[in-house]
Parts: sequence; structure tokens; C-alpha cells
Amino acid sequence: MKAEIVSIGTELLLGEIIDTNAAKIAKMLRNIGVDLYYKSTVGDNEERIVKVLTMALERAEAVITSGGLGPTVDDVTRQAVAQATGRPLVHSPELEAQIAARFRSFGRTMTDNNKQQAYIPAGAQALPNPVGTAPCFLAEDTGRRGFIISLPGVPHELEYMMTHTVIPLLVERMGGAYIIKARVLRTCAVGESNIDHAIDDLMRLSNPTVGLAAHAGQTDVRITAKAKTEAEADALIAPLEAELRRRLGVAIYGVDNETVPQVIGRLLSERNLTLGIADTLTQGQLAQELLEAGLGHLVVKNLQSNSIVPTQDGAAQATQFAAEVAPADGIGLALVGPFANAQTFIALHGPGDFRHTWAGHGYQATTYRQTWLIIQSLDWLRRTLLGQLTSPVDWQDSRKGAKTQSF
Ligand code: ATP
Repeated sequence: MKAEIVSIGTELLLGEIIDTNAAKIAKMLRNIGVDLYYKSTVGDNEERIVKVLTMALERAEAVITSGGLGPTVDDVTRQAVAQATGRPLVHSPELEAQIAARFRSFGRTMTDNNKQQAYIPAGAQALPNPVGTAPCFLAEDTGRRGFIISLPGVPHELEYMMTHTVIPLLVERMGGAYIIKARVLRTCAVGESNIDHAIDDLMRLSNPTVGLAAHAGQTDVRITAKAKTEAEADALIAPLEAELRRRLGVAIYGVDNETVPQVIGRLLSERNLTLGIADTLTQGQLAQELLEAGLGHLVVKNLQSNSIVPTQDGAAQATQFAAEVAPADGIGLALVGPFANAQTFIALHGPGDFRHTWAGHGYQATTYRQTWLIIQSLDWLRRTLLGQLTSPVDWQDSRKGAKTQSF
């Protein structure tokens, strides 16, 4: 089912109040699997509200309005909905009696203004509102398949009506709620545009959908399926995940909430290997992230940048540091620099005769760059542990095209 939200109120257009109602409705619709493609905001002007509602009815089956149901002259939602659905506005004695009873329960008498609230589009279904005086209703469109549900603007009334009346009503009309299930394939050290290029056709599917989200050094590929049951959603996700894995291969390091340091920890402990680190580039951040991820066997040598000799060959120094920190039963990883021309070097030593040294360019002392270097170095370590970087590889320059960019 497609839905559309129309928020009514000049205060919203003027920026005097924030449209929290639309956000609330949107979340609740999402939770039952209703598709929301448009939200609109319109002032308290009957003609313009009719236009927006007419357009919404052309695009969606369920149109939900918020606001403009009060008793004053600028509350014109009732009239606009009547026009947009092709129904005259009629007086409902039952509604008037309900409103009067509510006023009596507060010890107040109903004014003539309030009687206006007992008018709803002819044939509309009144939706009882036990938490406020504005009567809500559902009006079927006479010309098309859709319908409009009008709710009050007061947030707690709206929330009550959504929870107790609208959501159950929509679920019934859909023949049951849908669930939305997401699975995130996490990739690292491959640019977002490379991923996009490899899977762009899959990103045009509608159920499941595939979307990308990029962070420093990482790109998440999110698969989202909509189905009546979890098993159905899993069945929709599985073949698409298989195809994404076929295309992206080793670039995928984990799923859902897994982090790169966690995966490194798992791979090292499965192989009974220890890791030694020499780091002049991340102020200890690399070691901290690995320790936070629960990596036990870590030998850390946090080098200061003054322990490097700027005039010497950076690649040679990185290689040497990696060899120095490599435990007898493990791997040495060195992040060294910056050297002249903002060059940095990452070196891996072991296991066996494995050696790998990589030159990066354009170093800046920013958190983004540090995160990027951490991910890049851990990705080489990961690929080494998976046997994807094969020994002996001794030198690679990022400007000459990193092998890992082709996944
Ligand atoms: P009532 O009949 O109770 O007056 P109404 O349907 O006429 O309700 P409005 O007069 O449009 O609703 O709004 C009542 C109050 O509810 C507004 O002053 C505002 O504080 C709040 N409100 C209205 N619309 C929204 C919205 N979209 N998001 C958040 N708050 C809103």
C-alpha cells in the first residue's frame, strides 16, 4: 500500500513549529510496511489544501492529513477533504452529540463554533477521538480507489489516533502487516564509486532494495526486503546477497554490526597468530581500536614520529619496523610517516616469508585520514590472513593502482 502525508498549518510553513507529526506518522507506516513516497506541507488555505489532496490521491491509496480540524475559521481541512473526495459536507447529529458529551464531561458548554466540527464529508466514517474534541474521519474518494484519513494536529491526539485506530485499520486493509528486514554487507578499503559501478543494476531493484552508505574507508551495502513474514524476507534477501557476494567478493569483510577490528581479531585467533604494531601515524588509535574489539594477543610499539628518519627511504623504514614488531608466531604491521611529500607507508611482515609494503600519498593529520589509514592497513592484514595477498609481494604504490581496488 502506498501512503502520503499532508501536514496542514500555516505555522508549519512559517517555521514556527516543527512537523514532528509527519515524522511520527512516517515511522509508524514504515513499521507496518506501508510505502511512503511523498510528504507535503500546506497552509490553512482551502483551495491549496484541495490541490495537494487531489494530487496525493492520484499517487497514493491512503492519504493521512494532520491538523486543521479545530473549530475556528482557519480550520478548513473538513471542507477541503469534502471537495477533494467529491463529497458534500454534511452535519452528523451523532458527532455533535459526542462533541457535546465531551464538553459536558469537562464541565463546559459547546459553542456554535464547535458545532462546525460535527460536519464531515457525506458517507465518511467517523473515527472516535477519545483524547480530544476534534472528530477524525475516513473519507473514501468517490472517483478513485483511495481514501483520506484526517487527524488532529495536536501531537498526543494524533499519536493516539495513529496507534489505536489508523494503524489497525491500514493493517486490516492490507490483509496483514508487513515487516521490513535489512541486512548490511560491510565492505572496506574500496571506494564507494567502485562498489556502485559493480552493482549499479542491482541498485534499481524494488524489493529487496539495495542502497549504499559511505564512511571513512568503508562502504555499507544495505539490502532491505519487505515481506509478510521474516522467513519470506530472508528468502528475498538470500539470492541478492549471493549475487552481491559474487560480485564484491573479498571486499565484503562482514555483515550487520561487525567491525574491521573484530574481524581481524577473529581471523588471528582462528589461526593462533599474534599481532605486533608499530605506528607513528594514528596516535595509538589503531591499537586502541583493536584492543576495544577484544584482540588479546597484541604487541604494541607506539612509535613517535621522531623515531623515524625523514631522509631515509620510507618504504625501507616501514619494512624494518614491521619486522621488528613481528612476534615469532605472528605478523608485524607498521604504519610509518609522514615523509616528504606527505608520503606514508604501511608494511606487513610475516607469516612465513610474506612481506608487503605500500605507499600512500597526501597524508593529513585529520581524524578522517587516520581512520582511512587504519582501515586500509587492517584490510591488507585481513586479505593476508585470508590468503588473498600472496607471498612474496614486496612493494605497491597507491598511485600505480592498488591491486585490491579490483576487489
Ligand atoms: P484542535 O482541534 O485540537 O485545535 P487541529 O486539528 O485544529 O486541532 P491545529 O490547530 O492545526 O490542529 O494544531 C494544534 C496544535 O498542534 C498546533 O498549535 C501545534 O502546536 C500542534 N501541531 C499542529 N500540527 C503539527 C505538526 N504537524 N507537528 C507538530 N505539532 C503540530
